[in-house]
Amino acid sequence: MFILDNLLRENIKKLVPYSSARDEFKGEANVFLDANENSMGSPLLKWYNRYPDPMQWKVKEKLSLIKGVPSTNLFLGNGSDECIDVLYRICCEPGLDNVIIVPPTYGMYEVSAHINDVNVKKVPLTKDFQLNLQGVQDAVDDHTKIIFLCSPNNPTGNSINREDVEILLNNYFGLIVIDEAYINFSKHRSFIQELDEYPQLVILQTLSKAWGLAALRVGMAFASEDLVRVMNKVKPPYNISQASQELVLKALDEVSQVNEMITEIVKERDLLVQQLKNSAVVENIFQSDANFLLVKVTDPASIYKYLLAEGIVVRDRSKVEGCEGCLRITIGTVNENVALVNALQRFAGNYIA
Ligand SMILES: *Cc1c(COP(=O)(O)O)cnc(C)c1O
Repeated sequence: MFILDNLLRENIKKLVPYSSARDEFKGEANVFLDANENSMGSPLLKWYNRYPDPMQWKVKEKLSLIKGVPSTNLFLGNGSDECIDVLYRICCEPGLDNVIIVPPTYGMYEVSAHINDVNVKKVPLTKDFQLNLQGVQDAVDDHTKIIFLCSPNNPTGNSINREDVEILLNNYFGLIVIDEAYINFSKHRSFIQELDEYPQLVILQTLSKAWGLAALRVGMAFASEDLVRVMNKVKPPYNISQASQELVLKALDEVSQVNEMITEIVKERDLLVQQLKNSAVVENIFQSDANFLLVKVTDPASIYKYLLAEGIVVRDRSKVEGCEGCLRITIGTVNENVALVNALQRFAGNYIA
């Protein structure tokens, strides 16, 4: 059974959170002398002299409508990376607790663990990049606080089998984080509708990928109301700037434009797969539900360097365990993808010659 209190660190259970000026005053007023702001104004938009809403309620209300999840189940972080860090800080006792990750996967789960002095148990994905379910279950011990899954997974691009995730959700009662940063590019269903059923479930999504707002640094964690309440106690009080909140509110009105971009990216992804298949330097293209392809090539180091010289930067993942020989290539615009394919063709010509 899931009992949140059993997962939380003692200091966090006892924590009295910082109470900001904007938390303490609620209501109507027009003279604000409570927060040591600059009452004269700001060199930018006039109201930038004021601290932003620490709980980002307007943004959450709009997201709640789009996602079909109550605002009280939503935590916003300065990027998903802040959500990950906050989860470590509320659950994991440094030097004592551990988490399970399933590599090859997103690097921040491990980096954030090291920052927080939390042990990392690695249970590698199978060779078709699926969960080693028995391995994960065997790795769990009394100090395992979180299992991190990423689906669609970065850098492999595939989705994790839903049935396997459900088996974990029905048998493990620490936190199970499913990072869905790339869910909008996938035909598979999000786990977001299962929040009510599984109190240990945390879903991470982000505005950095499909929404095209990486610069604004807004990540989302969907979780039980109780867990969200604890996360809010621990985050820095004003973690999402006023500028980000305003711009996100505007962007969230453009769902149809975002959906068009997603459709275009998926179309370009499938086209790029067809074109790369014909390349002499491509040995394998892994099936992708994301906005990138993991591509096994004949000579990753030389190809990476060649592309760079041509002004094209991709991600060299060839030294990553499980991704030997692979480059990770983000889907670009039509022209960018053409430039990539042409450069690979030129490389192949030189290579054989
Ligand atoms: C890009 C990415 C994120 C997004 O991180 P932000 O901090 O929200 O920009 C999260 N998880 C994975 C797996 C990613 O690839």
